[in-house]
Amino acid sequence: MRPVHQARDARQARDAREAVVIADPVLLEQLRHQEVERNRLYLEQARILREIAGPHRISQVVSIESDCPTQSTTQVSSTLRTITIDDGIREQVAVHLRWSFTESQRRIDHARMLYGPLSETAQALYSGRISVDHATVICNAAAKHSLAWQPDADTQQQFIRDCAHLQNRVLPIAVESTVSRTKSAADKALERIDSEGQRERRRSQRLLHDISIIDEGDGRALLLARMGILEAQACAAAIRAHAGSEKFADLCDPQGNALPAGRTRIAALIDLLVGSRSAVAGAGTTLTAQVDLVIDLNTLIGLQEAMGTCTEGNRTPFQVAGSDIRDFLSMVDCDLTLRRLVTDPLRGHLLDLGRTRYTPGAELRRLIQARDITCRFPGCNRSAKGGEIDHAQEWNRGGETSAANLGALCTRHHQLKTHGGWSIVASGANGCCTWRAPHGVTYSVPPNSHAPEPPTPEPPTPEPPAPEPPAPDPPAPDNSDPPF
Ligand SMILES: [Zn+2]
Repeated sequence: MRPVHQARDARQARDAREAVVIADPVLLEQLRHQEVERNRLYLEQARILREIAGPHRISQVVSIESDCPTQSTTQVSSTLRTITIDDGIREQVAVHLRWSFTESQRRIDHARMLYGPLSETAQALYSGRISVDHATVICNAAAKHSLAWQPDADTQQQFIRDCAHLQNRVLPIAVESTVSRTKSAADKALERIDSEGQRERRRSQRLLHDISIIDEGDGRALLLARMGILEAQACAAAIRAHAGSEKFADLCDPQGNALPAGRTRIAALIDLLVGSRSAVAGAGTTLTAQVDLVIDLNTLIGLQEAMGTCTEGNRTPFQVAGSDIRDFLSMVDCDLTLRRLVTDPLRGHLLDLGRTRYTPGAELRRLIQARDITCRFPGCNRSAKGGEIDHAQEWNRGGETSAANLGALCTRHHQLKTHGGWSIVASGANGCCTWRAPHGVTYSVPPNSHAPEPPTPEPPTPEPPAPEPPAPDPPAPDNSDPPF
């Protein structure tokens, strides 16, 4: 008789054999075939994109009149400044396909590369030897090259030679390896063919060090801090040390349970940055933070549940549940700016200045920014607070300084409207507007809704079931001739 444990091992081995699922080779081959079809579709889109956008980036340099000076009369004196609008075509593609502007620029640039100096990559993609993701890595590397978008012929020739080198180094790896290894090879090749450019990019990247917030949904967000790696390590070490201090030893959630380690580190981070109500007096510096919360008063005091918006600085606002806002306010000890949104455009006399004044006053400007939340260009999510106030119908053509004719625009889209062939053909006091693209198609931007969600209506009381209809009489026998 076999020992018990041997019998158990044998049974587990048999179960494992029965659990192996063998992929159908026919289906696998179908998948591979579809991948090739997808590659060819991608290339066909790239061909069309290049036809729309042309082989090179086009920069439009325009001299614009600054419309900032405060005016109390109809006379508008202004100063001239010069700005550059790079590749204004990207908005036309993005708005029509509902791509982000970044994605639109990326796809256009990659199209120019695949139907230009990266033709070998395009061939490998067409034949299915590499995937779209592999090709994207190679296109990204080429598009970063400091000579990529230089217009003169000699520079272009050098760029084409560098692209040939890039493909020679990276394509063989892409054909045989993963996307991440391909990216690593592309980074090394770029370092070799454009070392000065890489150094310059690293220098300029430091200028982009900043903090940002990514909304993850469900009331959570990532607070990102882009910085040097050593600075990041030092900050993480400081947070961990603070979380391990005696101050957080007995930290519990409202139910009295000990906090997980990660949540304790977040509590330590919040304490370091903004202080907390539980902070020991004198243990840290309490800072003043400026966060704008736009929330209905009834929600703020808990009489109803609705979403609010939350933003700091000139960044894109986020939707936050009212209960989360109340929890946050009860936890932190920082001095927050609270602002209740004014939504009634008939309330104040400053909201419609007609033709008496070109520049909107502070109250009208605040209302426009709060109403629009972001730039009013279709799909743009730059904060209205960091942008400019635009007259939908230009002041010089009879446009009024009123809530109906004013809207928030970021600088780029303000200038695309002024110089890039875009126009607003309708604008409402609630912030809605309709844009006409240079190619003539119009796109509507709906107003933002600041009203709380209406309560869910009570379901109607079900009607008592109707009495069963009497059973029909059985059909009379059909003695007529069939119709065929
Ligand atoms: Zn914009």
